Amino acid sequence: MSYILRISASQNHLCYYCEHPMFRYKKQPLPPDTLTKDHFIPRSEGGQTAPSNMVTACSQCNSLRGNIAAEVFYYLLQKWFKKNPFLWIRWHRLSREELYDLKLICIRVHKRRLRGKARHHIAYAYRHFAFVHREKRLLAHTPA
Ligand SMILES: [Zn+2]
Repeated sequence: MSYILRISASQNHLCYYCEHPMFRYKKQPLPPDTLTKDHFIPRSEGGQTAPSNMVTACSQCNSLRGNIAAEVFYYLLQKWFKKNPFLWIRWHRLSREELYDLKLICIRVHKRRLRGKARHHIAYAYRHFAFVHREKRLLAHTPA
């Protein structure tokens, strides 16, 4: 089994960020729920293409995330889904306009134009996510 499938299996074949099931389609344009490899630490931040730095995510989350820190992206998703549960249900069927809005938020967050309370929440997200991530990683790299 390739390591990416092993990582996917350790995540129960759910996207690392949105936790939707991921599918693989052959010889078809990539639908947004396709399994893709994602660098946990982005390559632009010096992340390696090594099993310890890879998670599997749906192509929707992968393209939306871009180069934001995984912690921050995870936090943003939690916030959006909590605010609007239907967003989670429709996650792979969002309109072009909705995607554009979300992408803009991601870019703004990436450029760190955040003040006051938002910055505090992001700091919290980092601490919380570090814990969740460690647990998931342990599962991924434990020999079966
Ligand atoms: Zn996803």
